[in-house]
Amino acid sequence: LIELRGVNKHYGKLHVLRDIDLTVGRGEVVVVIGPSGSGKSTLCRAINRLETVESGSIKLDGRPLPEEGRALAQLRAEVGMVFQSFNLFAHKTVLANVMLAPVKVRKQKKDEAARHARELLDRVGLASQADKYPAQLSGGQQQRVAIARALAMDPKALLFDEPTSALDPEMINEVLEVMRRLARDGMTMVVVTHEMGFARSAANRVVFMDDGRIVEDRTPEEFFTAPRSERAKDFLSKIL
Ligand code: ATP
Ligand code: MG
Repeated sequence: LIELRGVNKHYGKLHVLRDIDLTVGRGEVVVVIGPSGSGKSTLCRAINRLETVESGSIKLDGRPLPEEGRALAQLRAEVGMVFQSFNLFAHKTVLANVMLAPVKVRKQKKDEAARHARELLDRVGLASQADKYPAQLSGGQQQRVAIARALAMDPKALLFDEPTSALDPEMINEVLEVMRRLARDGMTMVVVTHEMGFARSAANRVVFMDDGRIVEDRTPEEFFTAPRSERAKDFLSKIL
């Protein structure tokens, strides 16, 4: 579904993505881990074309990513992104946040979008919070709204960039539980996270990045029991 071949990117002299090859099949869950600054966020943003790359190809469903215009907006709908900071619209209700893109981008009728939004809020366990404003919710609840909002566009894949890093410990699990359920239901997901429990239990593959390179791309069993590279061993010894 998602295919990167020989992707490179610099920020000035800094080579942040080096010859990245990565394939994510339909229904696969790929967890990306690695030290700070290794290029994990840049990789996610490149897949969604929030960043351009200098060389190599990125394809979705066998087609190169669109450059601009309507096709690009369509891509952003097909590949939803959930960030560490929830990026909800503070002056809109929870329901309005989830309905916004389908109505604006998809030209869905409001009543139809509202019905779908309520279903999605139910799916993330927030049916009763539809008329509240983001500031009235906990961080974990806000992140679940952000997930519902991404789902509202019927995405082919979802990218998560450290979705639980800004949350208090007791709220992390409710978000991970929603993500586990999405994974079980067959959503294609790329997840940057430090939650190794999630990686072990939900990932089909773990990708370890270091200094702009993919150093390991293996099953969680293989990766956690016997990391091949010194860098991965060192990283795991610090966080486990
Ligand atoms: P973290 O775990 O801290 O989120 P990361 O693996 O997500 O790190 P990136 O955010 O992809 O890393 O950044 C990779 C490198 O590129 C870092 O050295 C970062 O400082 C640099 N970088 C990121 N965005 C920019 C930018 N807009 N301009 C210049 N340099 C950038
Ligand atoms: Mg990052």
